[in-house]
Amino acid sequence: MADGTETTTFTSPWQRRGFVHLVAVVRLLLRPWPAAENRFIDRLVEDQNRRVRIHLRKHPPRRVLLIMPRCVKKTGCRAPVQESLFECLDCCRCPLGDVAHLCLEHGVEALVAFRSHIAFALARREQPDLIIASACRDRLVKALRSTPEYPALLTPLTGMRSMCLDAGIDLTWISAQMEEIIPASGRGRIRTAQGS
Ligand code: SF4
Repeated sequence: MADGTETTTFTSPWQRRGFVHLVAVVRLLLRPWPAAENRFIDRLVEDQNRRVRIHLRKHPPRRVLLIMPRCVKKTGCRAPVQESLFECLDCCRCPLGDVAHLCLEHGVEALVAFRSHIAFALARREQPDLIIASACRDRLVKALRSTPEYPALLTPLTGMRSMCLDAGIDLTWISAQMEEIIPASGRGRIRTAQGS
């Protein structure tokens, strides 16, 4: 059990090949019923978040990384969010503006990932104690499968204007996670990276 030892290693069933296969089979069977598949994924995410919260009781994080997908960025905006969210602090025409302010308040690093594999590679390089991330359900499953060794609190995107465009994020949930885990310090820094 991740909470039953003194090690800082996070363990989850996603580290077992059999579990990953089982999830893939269930998703395949549920494919004709998208709402049911979504509910199944939501349940997997809830289970993950419960495991992470138990882990955090014994291993309070010092280094937190927030990962957002690029589809949250407002269509047509030319701000180089893959490099920095500083322009977002004065804009707030899409959710990344609120994300920028939250990160600044709580001293959390933000990463706007332009590709999933880049986000995974950066997570491995940065070695955060905790990841907070939002993405579409398919990408959340991919993240659980690809980086099961990292404690990651996850939430699905709240919707999209169209495929991969102008996605919404649950800012209330993200804010609540930060407030619970890292109360606002006012000493934040924002560093986003695509890692291209
Ligand atoms: S907050 Fe403004 S600058 Fe930042 S990505 Fe959204 S529209 Fe662009």
